[in-house]
Amino acid sequence: MKKLIIFLFTICLALQNSAQETENVFIVSLDGLRWQELYGGADSLLIDDPEYVKNPQELASMYWHDDLLERREILMPFFWSTIVSEGQLYGNRQYNNRVDCTNEKWFSYPGYNEILTGFADDDRIASNDKINNPNKTILEILNEREKYAGKVAAFGSWDVFPYIVNRDRSGLPINAGFETSKADPTETEAFLNKIQGEIRGPWSSVRLDVFTHHYAMEYLKKYEPKILYVAYGETDDFAHDGKYDEYLKSATQTDAYIRELWDFVQSNQHYRDKTTMIITTDHGRGIRPKANWQHHGLRISGAGQIWIAVIGPDTPVLGEVQRTGQLYQNQIAKTVMDALGEEYIEPKAGDAIEGAFK
Ligand SMILES: [Zn+2]
Repeated sequence: MKKLIIFLFTICLALQNSAQETENVFIVSLDGLRWQELYGGADSLLIDDPEYVKNPQELASMYWHDDLLERREILMPFFWSTIVSEGQLYGNRQYNNRVDCTNEKWFSYPGYNEILTGFADDDRIASNDKINNPNKTILEILNEREKYAGKVAAFGSWDVFPYIVNRDRSGLPINAGFETSKADPTETEAFLNKIQGEIRGPWSSVRLDVFTHHYAMEYLKKYEPKILYVAYGETDDFAHDGKYDEYLKSATQTDAYIRELWDFVQSNQHYRDKTTMIITTDHGRGIRPKANWQHHGLRISGAGQIWIAVIGPDTPVLGEVQRTGQLYQNQIAKTVMDALGEEYIEPKAGDAIEGAFK
């Protein structure tokens, strides 16, 4: 009798687990993309300002529409078609739906640490310097579990990412900055390796996202990782450079990259209907005075305001969440673990987002 009960209990547990469809999680970030553009499209204050836009007429013809809903869909069509109709979007403050950093730095490394560990560490993560993260990210933690060992990978445009995920300690495969693909490169990877050295991007510590994206896509096809992190960077760097036109164009291109990732997921037997994608940003940017759109950091009001999107087989369709609410950046790590049905015992981490999964 006792054996029978244990048997039935085991079956129940198995059935319960099978209700959870997610087996893979992709985390995607766009560095410093404001909620103002995600939810409102091109900013009327900036789109025709010759200080920030080389050809205001061209930019207006590309991105302006009087209707806000149309305007934001022009800027990020994948978010405002597939994600809004199949997933969840948090952080539109027009509806008093807020997402904020809990770190009090409001710049990149503290934001990525908070996303990937679930907690702020303002004492130790206090600069963007290349210092190995003393905290274990969920990427490292998952890679230590048998189910995910060797099935975790990260790609970033910024050359600090190997330190954020502490490659020296974690041994995670990460390709960031101007690194090339060395292990048995495919034809495409060999070509990327070659042209990455030939196309000189505008920045010394951040490569253009085209390389990050296609290295990630190739890896995905080759190794089928269960956990993939892709960190796009252009939006932040063009904003720092004061180029609103390039900032918008990068947002649109990154939206297209995310669509490509998702289309691959949904067309591939290994990933289809078994993959959850969580998309976010490391920090916001300023609002007033208007020149502050370029900047972030603690002295910049509004730069701690962020957004989160979730899409996947276990995620109830809520679309754009238009009710009062408050989420934090420190909830993303446990949300990822929750999607996988994995335990994450870290008292400092924020709770998983309630309602993100059935
Ligand atoms: Zn950043």
